[in-house]
Amino acid sequence: MSLIVQKFGGSSVANADRIRNVAGIVADTYSAGNQVVVVVSAQGDTTDELIAKANEINPKASKREMDMLLSTGEQISIALLAMALEAMGYSVKSLTGWQAGFSTDSNHGGARIRNINTDRLENELSKNNIVIVAGFQGLNRYDDITTLGRGGSDTSAVALAAALHADKCQIFTDVDGVYTADPRLVKNAVKLDEISYDEMLELASLGAQVLHNRSVEMAKKYGVDLEVLSSLERKPGTKVKEVVDVEKLLIRGVTKDDKSARVSVLGIPDVPGTAFRLFTLLGKYKVNVDVILQSLGQDHTQEISFTVPMDQLQTTIQVLNDAKETLGFTEVAYNDQISKVSIVGAGMATNPGVASKMFGALYEANINIHMISTSEIKISVLIDRKDSDKAVIAIHNAFYE
Ligand code: ADP
Ligand code: ASP
Ligand code: MG
Repeated sequence: MSLIVQKFGGSSVANADRIRNVAGIVADTYSAGNQVVVVVSAQGDTTDELIAKANEINPKASKREMDMLLSTGEQISIALLAMALEAMGYSVKSLTGWQAGFSTDSNHGGARIRNINTDRLENELSKNNIVIVAGFQGLNRYDDITTLGRGGSDTSAVALAAALHADKCQIFTDVDGVYTADPRLVKNAVKLDEISYDEMLELASLGAQVLHNRSVEMAKKYGVDLEVLSSLERKPGTKVKEVVDVEKLLIRGVTKDDKSARVSVLGIPDVPGTAFRLFTLLGKYKVNVDVILQSLGQDHTQEISFTVPMDQLQTTIQVLNDAKETLGFTEVAYNDQISKVSIVGAGMATNPGVASKMFGALYEANINIHMISTSEIKISVLIDRKDSDKAVIAIHNAFYE
């Protein structure tokens, strides 16, 4: 008997028909002799709608109350899916994140899972129940509800698979696997049979929303057997695993992130320790800094530019301005109309010419590059947001002609 964790995203449970469809997949897995733990997200656009409702009442609502509100979306889904399985004659229990034992830190809106107490879950499984768990939510040590950040149900599922030592974790969604680019944007994107944890982690962190980046981090750490597949068509999806054949493709994927902004700190004294102090300060406020560029400014000063997630831009500017005197810079500027476009692939380390191919594609599409950052397995460029779709398509065409 295998233990399988199956996660279904918002569009897979968007209405009654879709919920019945999901119940069918779960029932078949259970009837084949497996123990099944299901994780679900809020239906369709529920989470966005809840955020809009909050904004109508108080756009500056506390993060605690936001989490109280947002966690309700997933609770609707677990109850409805359980009812669908009940109607089919299965014995099933739905559990909220806290009933399922999820403890998190107190970072409301982006909490990290600390630990999962699986006693209740294992008890339900031992009674041959199908268990349905609300994704995206947990409880901090003060018993306040927390959420894991947008797209976080994937992480709930992988964390459960790790905690229960499940045989596999299947992420069902509205596409049939991971592609070389978002198939909704790039029509000739190619479906991948497999991708390494490291490549998937880069793709997810650089904007491919198909998997929450922390879910991939966790899958790698605990060696979870992970697959992304369609909830609408029954066929194999994409396996995410430790090692895959790097020879086949020069790059594994192209992705864009339209939710970052560039911050530039100008007139920093050119002495040792300033970058250290600046980024330590931002770290204290949990600002996620990416692509960093330090360049010479005027009058022996330095200029440091970097990207931050759009929703951390206000905090970043505030924190920097509050520390203007101690850090000794003259001005903070920002640009919230930029995008980060990246290529990812373990094969690029051993293949010279990948970067020039990417830059050539951008040049031919007449797209200007503001900043570049590279690592062993990725190259990212910062460009104007209005060009981001065009850039992804042009780069994809250059590599997969
Ligand atoms: P769910 O609601 O099931 O969690 P998401 O909307 O979070 O689904 O993620 C699935 C979406 O991710 C797809 O509809 C697709 O448009 C998008 N996506 C972006 N990049 C990729 C990629 N490289 N491969 C597959 N899908 C991608
Ligand atoms: N419902 C949450 C969101 O929309 C979590 C998820 O879908 O994974 O972000
Ligand atoms: Mg998702």
